[in-house]
Amino acid sequence: MIIVLKPEVTDEEIQHIVDKIEDYGLKTHISRGELRTVIGAIGDETILREKPIEAISGVEKVMPVVEPYKLASRSFHPDDSIISIGNGKVTIGGNTIAIIAGPCTVENEDQTVKTAIEVKKAGANLLRGGAFKPRTSPYSFQGLGAKGLEILLTAKKETGLPIVTEVMDPRDVELVAEKADVIQIGARNVQNFNLLKEVGRYKKPILLKRGMMTTVKELLMSAEYIMSEGNLEVMLCERGIRTFETETRNTLDLSLIPVANTKTHLPVVIDPSHATGHREYIESMSLAAIAGGADALMIEVHVTPEEAMVDGAQSLSPQCFVDFMQKAKAVASALGKKVGAL
Ligand code: PEP
Ligand code: MN
Repeated sequence: MIIVLKPEVTDEEIQHIVDKIEDYGLKTHISRGELRTVIGAIGDETILREKPIEAISGVEKVMPVVEPYKLASRSFHPDDSIISIGNGKVTIGGNTIAIIAGPCTVENEDQTVKTAIEVKKAGANLLRGGAFKPRTSPYSFQGLGAKGLEILLTAKKETGLPIVTEVMDPRDVELVAEKADVIQIGARNVQNFNLLKEVGRYKKPILLKRGMMTTVKELLMSAEYIMSEGNLEVMLCERGIRTFETETRNTLDLSLIPVANTKTHLPVVIDPSHATGHREYIESMSLAAIAGGADALMIEVHVTPEEAMVDGAQSLSPQCFVDFMQKAKAVASALGKKVGAL
């Protein structure tokens, strides 16, 4: 940890800071520059993290050297993590870009099964669909709940596609973990720490969505919450952050891919549907994500988008999805990668 001192700090104050740090069991190294003096605290930084060093007179700021997350950090696990879904049926991370596709929400069996068949035919390798829906308004359709999970299982039986679905309430985690192949934590719950800890207790891969106001560091701390409970199978999902721009629903932060790749071993999933909010922008953002090194894409597809109960404007029709998959294959192959089941 580096402790930057105020320009007017006195020798007595410096000695007091040094004594305090050494009392905590760390060594110190004072570096007197022309403009500033800094103290390097050498030893276990975690001891100082909880101490109010910035409250000591003469201290301007404290800069940790080590990241506050451990299990999620690249230094803990230098190789990329590869997450196995449905007993190795699909892997996320590595040389194949996984394609997660399906409707925003499960509306009924016909819509879900038909969409699942179409996305499977086009080369998707996982089916998404919300049974528990986080809606801005309490008067909007909230999802079919447990019945929606059963419909997803029917679609899985028809197509063989493993299921990705969201859980919002710690009380539903047991049920969702039993039915789903991947548990999704939605953007609005990225810092619902009790929910994160609960899903951390299950042996099920987790798709953790970045919140609209979440920094990369905060996202990694949320992953750490899950991992610290024993579940190391976490995927990070960028779904757009909130900026001043209004032409798109959110702003897709593709820089998450290289930033995450330096800081963590966890795979990165890009969701261009919630990021852009408009179907006409999905293809270009998805191709850019593939070129930028995404490990998977999550795309909303609806068998009849103009009839969708939720997120119809950002849902691709089956034909648009087929066309997209062909282009995705071409971009991926330029990088020596495969995409979905193609
Ligand atoms: C979703 O994927 O269905 C969803 C609600 O997304 P987000 O949590 O990113 O808004
Ligand atoms: Mn949606």
